[in-house]
Amino acid sequence: MKTRLLTGQDIEAAAAILGDGGLLGIPTETVYGLGANGLDPEAVRRIFEAKGRPSDNPLILHIPDASWLERYCHDVPDTAYTLAEKFWPGPLTMILPRRETVPDVVTCGLDTVGIRCPDHPVTLAVIRAAGVPTAAPSGNRSGRPSPTCAAHMLEDMDGRIDAIVDGGPCGVGVESTIIDLTVTPPRLLRPGGLPLEALEAVLGEVAVDRAVLSPLSAGEKPRAPGMKYRHYAPKAPVTVVTGEGGRTARYIRERLGKHTGVICFDEYAGQFPGCALQTIGSARDPAEQARRVFDALRSFDGTSVEAIYAQCPDDAGLGLAVANRLKKAAGFQITALEEVEP
Ligand code: AMP
Ligand code: MG
Repeated sequence: MKTRLLTGQDIEAAAAILGDGGLLGIPTETVYGLGANGLDPEAVRRIFEAKGRPSDNPLILHIPDASWLERYCHDVPDTAYTLAEKFWPGPLTMILPRRETVPDVVTCGLDTVGIRCPDHPVTLAVIRAAGVPTAAPSGNRSGRPSPTCAAHMLEDMDGRIDAIVDGGPCGVGVESTIIDLTVTPPRLLRPGGLPLEALEAVLGEVAVDRAVLSPLSAGEKPRAPGMKYRHYAPKAPVTVVTGEGGRTARYIRERLGKHTGVICFDEYAGQFPGCALQTIGSARDPAEQARRVFDALRSFDGTSVEAIYAQCPDDAGLGLAVANRLKKAAGFQITALEEVEP
């Protein structure tokens, strides 16, 4: 299959691909998604095939506004509308009770469905023109870092999908925050582009799922099925080093070898002479780190780097999402310097 590159002008052509049961790369503010008509089980099955995605890892349905919620969900609580009013379009996915209209293949048989309204004018126009909710996971091959520009999606998906709409680089850079509204208190299943603090300001108490912060133990059943898989991984193994920036930089510098890659904050870029280096923005700017973290992880592939060390932000604001992606990329291989005497 030849994968076409479309532009933001090609709304009708892109919508026709969805209407015909095809696979379409869609730009969103978080990361690029791999979209198909969410009401067409055969088309949705092809998403799993193209990604090499495990068949028990459900997809998110993308809708153009909150008025579509009732078509696919029942018993929608008032809080869902409050959150939609405040944060949609935007990087927030809500888990809600699912109606029969949603095919099993989208939710992998769960009785809930993840729904979001993405904040990208081109994708919203394509979904409206197609007139169907778009099922879409991130547009990478399963296990790889998520794509934050059309070129990265093409690296993973060329020849596997019908087209990618190039809508420019993603403004947020990490996936949506996932909140489960079917439980009390609401539960954060994945930190993402909307900070936990913003949800707490509306919802009050929010439980943070254990799998956000640590690996699942053997046999433990995750609440967001995607959380049990290794994710976001570049080809070389990653070690994440947490703690104060000066200390983590020193720790990493003492361990540099000929084939070490380093992901660091801008302030420490001068401390790793002669090694393969990717900066992800200032230590004080987690929004910039979010925009750059997946590109940084991807950049070492195809180089001679055999091991990667990464500095890691603390959990405030978008730092929680950046730290989660780095830790998952590392398979939770973490050195915690804050727990060690200086
Ligand atoms: P991706 O967009 O590739 O990050 O994949 C979607 C994420 O949403 C995965 O981590 C899924 O496990 C999660 N997800 C989708 N639907 C549900 C659901 N009904 N309940 C819990 N998690 C979900
Ligand atoms: Mg993904």
